[in-house]
Amino acid sequence: MARRVNHQILLGSALLCAAALVCAQPTSLRAAEGQAPVPAAVSNFPIASDARLAGDARQTRFVLDLDQPIQHRAFVLADPYRVVIDIPQVSFQLPPGVGAAGRGLIKAFRYGLVMPGGSRIVFDLTGPAKIANSYVLEAANGQPPRLVLELTEVDRTAFMQALAGESRPELRPAVADAKAAVAPAAPQKPSGPPDTRPVIVIDPGHGGPDNGTQAGGSDFMEKNLVLTFGLALRDRIEKSGKYRVVMTRDDDTFVPLDERVRIARSQSAALLVSIHADALKRGEGDAQGATIYTLSEKATDIEAERLAEAENRSDSIAGVTLSEEPVVTDILIDLAQRETRTFSNRFARVLMTEMKTSVRMHKNPLKSAGFRVLKAPDVPSVLVELGYVSNKGDREHLVSESWRNRTVGAMSQAIDAFLAKRLATARSN
Ligand SMILES: [Zn+2]
Repeated sequence: MARRVNHQILLGSALLCAAALVCAQPTSLRAAEGQAPVPAAVSNFPIASDARLAGDARQTRFVLDLDQPIQHRAFVLADPYRVVIDIPQVSFQLPPGVGAAGRGLIKAFRYGLVMPGGSRIVFDLTGPAKIANSYVLEAANGQPPRLVLELTEVDRTAFMQALAGESRPELRPAVADAKAAVAPAAPQKPSGPPDTRPVIVIDPGHGGPDNGTQAGGSDFMEKNLVLTFGLALRDRIEKSGKYRVVMTRDDDTFVPLDERVRIARSQSAALLVSIHADALKRGEGDAQGATIYTLSEKATDIEAERLAEAENRSDSIAGVTLSEEPVVTDILIDLAQRETRTFSNRFARVLMTEMKTSVRMHKNPLKSAGFRVLKAPDVPSVLVELGYVSNKGDREHLVSESWRNRTVGAMSQAIDAFLAKRLATARSN
């Protein structure tokens, strides 16, 4: 146990160092040296170049090829059975599609950034297994440095015992906190009035090891499509100068669902807009067009329920243990929630009216279900599924710049119309 704790401290400092490397090269320094700014994220991090699986359903081995030895921490998670390896930030340059097909005890795996300076690999297991060994090898015999994970089949009882015995403080994938811990202190503005503009939180779904849907192949990964869209929407809204926009993520980093809600609440946001893209599985028919979702306990239909379940799995996919949802008993929160819901529904209607003039909408474009990311009791929140990556026409739209411009335009107009009216009402009261 003591060894494990030491290991975590070591990893913690490794993460900070990795981030410090980035911070140690401010742009001005590079500019003074007369060099073009090199993205430090590309140049400084260890590179993972290949990954492979070997073994069978009793013993399975995972090997990751690296260009230098790194620290790591491996642990198991239950329900569903998963193994997580936390490592310092790594530049993954693995062959496309790696991890989609499993072998032996590993059903599939995925990887990505979970915080500045910290990457993660998440393995879905076919059943309970224990980490028989995990280690990093130096380069030897013509082989590059490697990270090795060895799994052995166990029964559920043994798995749960191993899980209970683990000292495993979560690696904080809380992006805002992590950034605050490692980012250089922002220069203090000497004076000037505080920024009182209403805050709009834009929430591109998924990120890092959570790719979202990708029915059309890796070119159509939801996490990338919605990030591009979210950034374009931010730029459009900021143009007017009337609002301040806060992104829950502005790069390929995973952010837990509750953290997204927390960001909106801590900013006292006037609106949260979560951006996603949907997909139907093969054989489930074809659907197309954009859909706007609000929060409700009971889903409007089976499809909405299925979608909310899929979107709510995000934390599990990224290897984050789900926290128990707090039971809301406070009457004030309850009242706030009711008012917030009214505003959310009102905004959803304004958004639909605006979008349908220029964007193809789903045949039932307004729906509701139990989306975890929409649960802020005091921030009106909607989730927009831009379209279906499983539909050819929608897929063409999702990567088209002119479609994106049109849609971003419609959405920012709807946001402006809704907030202008809401602020006017608030002022006259
Ligand atoms: Zn999604």
